Amino acid sequence: MSARVIDGKAVADALRTEVAEAVRDLSAHGFTPGLAVVLVGDHPASRVYVRNKSARTVEAGMRSFDHRLPPEVTETELLDVIRMLNADDAVDGILVQLPLPSHIDASTVLLAIDPAKDVDGFHPVNAGRLATGTPGLVPCTPLGCLMLVKSVTPSLDGLDAVVLGRSNIVGKPMAQLLLAESCTVTVAHSRTRDLADLCRRADILVAAIGRPEFVRGDWIKPGATVIDVGINRVAEPGDGPSLLGDVAFAEAVEVAGAVTPVPGGVGPMTIACLLRNTVAAACLRRGLAIPNALTAFG
Ligand code: NDP
Repeated sequence: MSARVIDGKAVADALRTEVAEAVRDLSAHGFTPGLAVVLVGDHPASRVYVRNKSARTVEAGMRSFDHRLPPEVTETELLDVIRMLNADDAVDGILVQLPLPSHIDASTVLLAIDPAKDVDGFHPVNAGRLATGTPGLVPCTPLGCLMLVKSVTPSLDGLDAVVLGRSNIVGKPMAQLLLAESCTVTVAHSRTRDLADLCRRADILVAAIGRPEFVRGDWIKPGATVIDVGINRVAEPGDGPSLLGDVAFAEAVEVAGAVTPVPGGVGPMTIACLLRNTVAAACLRRGLAIPNALTAFG
């Protein structure tokens, strides 16, 4: 058996097209959604990521506000920038690029973001909304994973789902999203016993643990949908570092019904979902309905 390889880039491109159309339609209401990205310091990977975000924001017809702060900026100065962005009506979404320098407490900063503009969905208010099924902003990576699952399996009703990993940014919100789709969800972590057996029962398996090729082919139920969130840089002899997921892709593709590759699976969805969340935040703040194309996944 050879699994369908889910093309995350194609799904992300389609979502960005829907976002751009929604932005055009919203101009009839007299506003253009705006995303502010705050980058502290000059972490090379963060700089590239922030540049990409800004380019994609503008490409989708939205306003992009970049705030680059020096590495020695104090927590108080950073909080002042967040307060200024909270109060700025042109800003619908605020994203503080992580990691922050060690002298700044990331949770204090994330708590200072107005939950209505929290397009990363990390604020406890938005986590609570997700847990209680109330409209809010959902973290981008798990939202993207759900869209990928639904691109191959539109109805998840009653399916068994296993989420490997229990972080606040991926594992826990992923579990909540699958529960909201009426899956029977099990969340596994480093203390879970009989992990392979547990995974073998999953119709939907999401791996988000940060361990290269940890999930083997014989852990996968034949025909299951496997979403690989992991991004692991591994040094290859002779070559530069290569990127591996948490799933042994060559083995998974022989057993699964559908599987995401790394790279080209979950990765491209994260920025597309950030743009989607910016439009969603702009609508929710103004009491407008989120455009259908951005709520119907898959
Ligand atoms: P964290 O390190 O915050 O969490 C990892 C989770 O995996 C923890 O819950 C941990 O368990 C669990 N875990 C670790 N080792 C094992 C093990 N041997 N068996 C079972 N569970 C284990 O990572 P994140 O959630 O932030 O990210 C996970 C992966 O996803 C990383 O590779 C990251 O790079 C990638 N990622 C990719 C994104 C994308 O855009 N594609 C975005 C975000 C993350 P415990 O809680 O018990 O310690």
